[in-house]
Amino acid sequence: MKKLFVFISLLSLLSLFIWLSLLKTQNLTSNIGSNQAKSIYLQAFTNVPTKDILRLKNQLQFALKLDSSHIKIVAPISLPAWALNQTKTRYRADSLLKLLNKLCPSDGVILGICYSDISSTKGIHKDWGIMGLGYCPGKACIISNYRLKGANKLEKLGKLALHEYGHTQGLKHCSTITCLMRDAEGKDHLNEMTGFCESCLKIITKTY
Ligand SMILES: [Zn+2]
Ligand SMILES: [Zn+2]
Repeated sequence: MKKLFVFISLLSLLSLFIWLSLLKTQNLTSNIGSNQAKSIYLQAFTNVPTKDILRLKNQLQFALKLDSSHIKIVAPISLPAWALNQTKTRYRADSLLKLLNKLCPSDGVILGICYSDISSTKGIHKDWGIMGLGYCPGKACIISNYRLKGANKLEKLGKLALHEYGHTQGLKHCSTITCLMRDAEGKDHLNEMTGFCESCLKIITKTY
């Protein structure tokens, strides 16, 4: 009788252990679920052709290994006159980032696409023309095709988008010359930048 009691007690303990393990696995699974990739919202400003936005979407999807449902194209908006610089020749990227930040839904990151010239303050240069800018980390980034040259401008625009998106995910500049997170240093190195290096890719995809 005593042996039977010990056996039943051991069986109960075993059931409890299995039940607790299952509970733990369930929690882990739901954590993985909640860490799914955030949505990327593509926000075009005035006069960006739809075919270019669609190409950009495909490029981001492929490079970030994302499902197409994670990249959403939203209705285009006009470039606001209040974001112009003093000489009214360029749009201030920092002002546009503030606007994008306000427009960004809570579940994602917003990428502004602009075909006009954009600028930012860089050291002694109060109004320095740039190709892109992004919060690091943050929810908003912006790219412009204005300074891109060559027949593969659209491919370069995609690389620029990945670079600025990388900043929003906390990636800083990388010393690997072929890496998309290489510092532009005021030049266009986009043809040499072929993809994210192994360590940058690991960081950028860690939440997926
Ligand atoms: Zn950068
Ligand atoms: Zn890298």
